[in-house]
Amino acid sequence: MTFQDFNFNGHLLEGILSMGYTIPTPIQEMAIPIILKGQDIIACAQTGTGKTGAYLLPVLDHISKTNKHQISTLVLAPTRELAQQIDQQVEGLAYFTGISSIAVFGGGDGIAYEQQRRGIQNNVNIIIATPGRLIAHLTSGVLKLNHLTHLVLDEADRMLDMGFQDDIMKIISYLPKQRQTLLFSATMPGRIRSLAKSVLNNPASVNIAVSQPAVGIDQQIYRVHDQQKTPLLQMLLKNGSYASILIFCSRKEIVKSLARELKAARMQVSAFHSDLEQREREEILLAFKNKQLPVIIGTDALSRGIDVEGIDLVVNYDVPGDPEDYIHRIGRTARAETTGTAITFVNHRDERKLKSIEQLIDKPIRLIDVPDELAGIQQVKHEHTANKRPQRRQWGNKSRK
Ligand code: AMP
Repeated sequence: MTFQDFNFNGHLLEGILSMGYTIPTPIQEMAIPIILKGQDIIACAQTGTGKTGAYLLPVLDHISKTNKHQISTLVLAPTRELAQQIDQQVEGLAYFTGISSIAVFGGGDGIAYEQQRRGIQNNVNIIIATPGRLIAHLTSGVLKLNHLTHLVLDEADRMLDMGFQDDIMKIISYLPKQRQTLLFSATMPGRIRSLAKSVLNNPASVNIAVSQPAVGIDQQIYRVHDQQKTPLLQMLLKNGSYASILIFCSRKEIVKSLARELKAARMQVSAFHSDLEQREREEILLAFKNKQLPVIIGTDALSRGIDVEGIDLVVNYDVPGDPEDYIHRIGRTARAETTGTAITFVNHRDERKLKSIEQLIDKPIRLIDVPDELAGIQQVKHEHTANKRPQRRQWGNKSRK
């Protein structure tokens, strides 16, 4: 199947090509024809599957073939980051169509609010919003959604986890009853099904099956604070009988500093990250494959690239942000029907990520107590600055009309 098969507007097709998409992803292949028919949909799909395109493309096609001068689509998303990413995808896909969008999210200053207010009054076609800030614009009377034809709930499970259920219902009370509603969620717990029952009308269901971790993997978690992580890791490596070990960190700075610490403790490890030359990376992987190097420390880039038999331990020094990455990471062990161990260190800030992982794999992960010797290690206040992601750039509103 190709994008030509959907009979999209020509300008939209140009945008799709310019984004480098050649063939639809499975979720796009399944969801787009249903949405084009005008039916409501409940879709189970994770980030990385092309789910955003799956709902944006038919919506953009609809707008390009109808009245372009009103707000016709509202996309609700749990976080500012996701709202901005969706807005950027609209910008790319709709580039040649003249369709405009605005991301509306909380935080920022009065100027940001004022910019959003003016953007809304410019009659953009698509609003991508976090629920709280959208309500502020709705109740102030600035935003009218009487002509809305499409409502999208993206990452609905995360919105409910973040306590947005009442806000979502309030927003829906402002929308026309006659509309098409598209619900996308990474997981389908009962709460999502009840939400779907109350806001969708005779929806079609689409499900992208998630690969589950191999049964041979013994999955364990330790609840730790950051100062306990390295001593615990050293203890596990020294006391265990593991021969081939992968350690995953969230950022390359952590990869590098952990590698330094372990080397200082006379452990044979290599850091694997994007600052290395291709040749250096190949050498590390070869040594690991040949069992001359027992430990590699890296980021998620490592989890997708490495195809080595006989890895017996994977350690998540940091919990991955995306539950799918957890499956990719631990999938490096217990390959081809063998067994392996996957250990994840969870600090208090990562509890929510752990919950998402457990939802995705549909079971709790076994909790192991931190050894008594490490219990006395003091937690340092403001520790999280070391692990904090750099702030993303804020995007202003825009209209290309
Ligand atoms: P998403 O799951 O929506 O977050 O999309 C993940 C990434 O895949 C984004 O960078 C999209 O731009 C990209 N993408 C979406 N659909 C396609 C496609 N059909 N072909 C190639 N890349 C795609």
